[in-house]
Amino acid sequence: MAGALPPAPDAIRAPEALRKKLAKIGLHREADLPLHLPLRYEDETRITLLNQAFSGEPVQIEVVVHDNEVQFRPRKQMIVRAADDSGEITLRFFSYYPSQQAALAVGSRIRAFGEVRGGFFGLEMVHPRFHKIADDTPLPTEMTPVYPSTAGVANSALLKLVSKALSVLDLADTLPPAIRQRLKLPGLARSLQFLHRPPPGTDLDSLHARHHPAWRRVKFDEVLAQQLSLRRAYLARREQGAPVLVAQDDLGARLVDRLPFGLTGAQLRAMAEIAGDLAQPYPMQRLLQGDVGAGKTIVAALAACQAISAGWQAAFMAPTEILAEQHYLKLRDWLEPLGVRVAWLSGSLKTKAKREHLAATAADAQLVVGTHALIQDGVDFAKLGLAIVDEQHRFGVAQRLALRKKGSNPHQLMMSATPIPRTLAMSYYADLDVTVLDELPPGRTPIKTRLVADNRRQDVVGFVKKHVEEGRQAYWVCPLIEESEALQLQTAQETYETLSVDLPGLTVGLVHGRLKADEKQAVMAAFAAGDISVLVATTVIEVGVDVPNASLMVIEHAERFGLSQLHQLRGRVGRGPYESSCVLIYAGPLGEVARQRLKIIFEHTDGFEIARQDLQIRGPGEFVGARQSGVPLLRYADLEMDADLVEMAREVAEEMLTAHPDLADKHLQRWLGSREELLRS
Ligand code: ADP
Ligand code: MG
Repeated sequence: MAGALPPAPDAIRAPEALRKKLAKIGLHREADLPLHLPLRYEDETRITLLNQAFSGEPVQIEVVVHDNEVQFRPRKQMIVRAADDSGEITLRFFSYYPSQQAALAVGSRIRAFGEVRGGFFGLEMVHPRFHKIADDTPLPTEMTPVYPSTAGVANSALLKLVSKALSVLDLADTLPPAIRQRLKLPGLARSLQFLHRPPPGTDLDSLHARHHPAWRRVKFDEVLAQQLSLRRAYLARREQGAPVLVAQDDLGARLVDRLPFGLTGAQLRAMAEIAGDLAQPYPMQRLLQGDVGAGKTIVAALAACQAISAGWQAAFMAPTEILAEQHYLKLRDWLEPLGVRVAWLSGSLKTKAKREHLAATAADAQLVVGTHALIQDGVDFAKLGLAIVDEQHRFGVAQRLALRKKGSNPHQLMMSATPIPRTLAMSYYADLDVTVLDELPPGRTPIKTRLVADNRRQDVVGFVKKHVEEGRQAYWVCPLIEESEALQLQTAQETYETLSVDLPGLTVGLVHGRLKADEKQAVMAAFAAGDISVLVATTVIEVGVDVPNASLMVIEHAERFGLSQLHQLRGRVGRGPYESSCVLIYAGPLGEVARQRLKIIFEHTDGFEIARQDLQIRGPGEFVGARQSGVPLLRYADLEMDADLVEMAREVAEEMLTAHPDLADKHLQRWLGSREELLRS
């Protein structure tokens, strides 16, 4: 019979029940304990006399109980009256154990910690932490740490475990002394000791605000572990061989010749970098970042050309059906006339068609475009040399890995239109090379953004009408309704119906996520061909859709959207030579955050600036999306406040991996242990 596994040798030594609770808060190994830092501290090293206690201030008092009664009105409570030499106080408890009641018996001497209030009946404390003491119990000489604890682990239990771990574990520094001095960081062991047991008189404010040098040291180590891990994964992949993709003909040049536009300087630079990567004997790991409309697709297409003319296949994966299909149509237009065999693979293809496509991918196609369908079992590439992932943040680690697995170490090009601030990029993309398209194609007309309250919705309808009469097309986007997809469809449906009535003589179309693939395709094709003037849509059109004649974007309930989402949506227009606008309809009254966000999108058009401000409002989570799912987030470092630490850690990681690989190992072991592989993608 399979019994419970014995605890690992480095497991926390505690009864099994407690061990399980600790595991829930991420504490598995003895070595995890010192890195579990207090949330705040309470100063129990001093006693405050009652006549010197200010209302609202957390203090410790030492008193003797002279009365203890339980009242039932207005609600059940235990009322304890106690005094020290200077005054009287009432302690009030609304719930308590019998053992606590006993400890508070008349005559008991207790120390209580809590916030004093000056009430009508004199001083009182509600639910103070307290313990009974003897006449001569000495005061603690250190601050009391309060640990972030859930899962029912008592603070005192954690305190004991951590103390023990601090005294027995090897906390030898993993930063080489020279680096430590250069960065002016204190030693690790000293910092941890200090943070767990700050000496009396320590300025608690700088500890609580986490500005203290000891905190900086811990945060630095944490960020360093992340950088080391990502960087090591990057270097490890470089050790693996990859197909050397050297073009054998002029396919790429012929594509460029056929384009109706010239490439921007940024596109040319990106191309050159990618071309260089593909010709290396190790796999490219490059992220191509560029604002909405920067022209990433053609750069990817040219990379595909290089793979194809080197005799290999390329795969191009996009997160939604609409986007994947649009890429397919565009790439087919570009490449088929040049004799390239382009195949399309999506989840909703009919079975027979799918089988044919599967066969084609295996045998014949040179470029395969599709959705997640590309990574299903049964899709076998004969010779996959380059894997391209569009809107990469929409995919999970496992999905990108699965695409890579379809070949033997293919090169990887990932693309993202969600520009993320530099420190965030450094933190999350440390295992990638990054190319930024920092220049939009010329001739784009700036997009005028307007904010309109929803009681002026009819004006917007009039605006749409005028716009269409001028020969242009418009999008009308209905918001995602988190709670209910059914409700979302209903809203889109209703909007479609009202607009059809309000805009007589105009063709209104509707597209949403629930349509069958061929229905969706038909609507999008009609819109692209100009047969539909106004397209009512849910956020399915958020990414990538490209119809240059559409120059008006209306977004309803704009206050419900994320900023990068609004930016993406707005980027659907301004793609042709026509003056373009984006109308954000909002429903008031707006909360402070909503107001701030709409202001940002109204004032800025640069995706990076929008992202930077968004980060400040929302925190990093949403930017990196699926990439970090399951990854232990940074617990202590804050990417905004500690941006300088990220920069430092990045350099140090590089240096340690070459000059001190054993210390790098030890550092990773300490901070991540077995969790390290979770960080890798
Ligand atoms: P994104 O970077 O958002 O994926 P796309 O690749 O979809 O952008 O390009 C947006 C539009 O700009 C497309 O219609 C594309 O054909 C066009 N485009 C790309 N590069 C250029 C360029 N150098 N000059 C003019 N138009 C371009
Ligand atoms: Mg794109």
